Amino acid sequence: MAPDPNAASSASRPGAAALRVGVLAVQGDFEAHRLMLSSLGAEASEVRAPEQFDDLDGLVIPGGESTTISKGMARDGLDDAIRRRGVSGLPILGSCAGMIVCDRNHLGIGDYRCRRNAFGRQRHSFEQDLRIEGLGTEPLRAVFIRAPWVEERGSGVEVLAEVDGHPVAIRDGNLLAVAFHAELTDDSRLHAYFMAMVTAASTTEAPADA
Ligand code: GLN
Repeated sequence: MAPDPNAASSASRPGAAALRVGVLAVQGDFEAHRLMLSSLGAEASEVRAPEQFDDLDGLVIPGGESTTISKGMARDGLDDAIRRRGVSGLPILGSCAGMIVCDRNHLGIGDYRCRRNAFGRQRHSFEQDLRIEGLGTEPLRAVFIRAPWVEERGSGVEVLAEVDGHPVAIRDGNLLAVAFHAELTDDSRLHAYFMAMVTAASTTEAPADA
């Protein structure tokens, strides 16, 4: 069942520590994600060093340039840390370039393969109202900037939204990956959906004596 986006308010759990969500700050659009996560009650921080991944409850990999982000992750020894936590179920939101770097050809956290710059020159950048499974009936204004789509996927990958028949929002276990930028408008429902995933995962993982 899809998490309830309204459950994100529990990210600020009164009396409990806020959930810690890192935003990978190698390159790209990390600041806008951090602000949106903070507005939802998360303890959001920029992460750049491998040891910063150990105590995160969730991670956002922002849009930018996937080649630059991949090189930066390898240079700073972040790729193994992210892969290890991602494969073991850390909730991750990958947006645009972040969707690409989580695919089979990169970190291999999601069971799908992206086509980069898939919409071509004609639709280099565009905005579209998108109905997204799990976000209610109200469409989200999605901002696509040299966006990928999902070209191929495994049977366990759930498609949450499509454009022209191509998946642009998917969920694979605790990985939520979108081809667009959801951090550039005032609509925080996608981040709220993600925070509900983070909340659910942290509740499941919480040690008995916590
Ligand atoms: N086209 C970029 C890439 O291939 C992604 C663009 C974006 O993140 N907005 O990495």
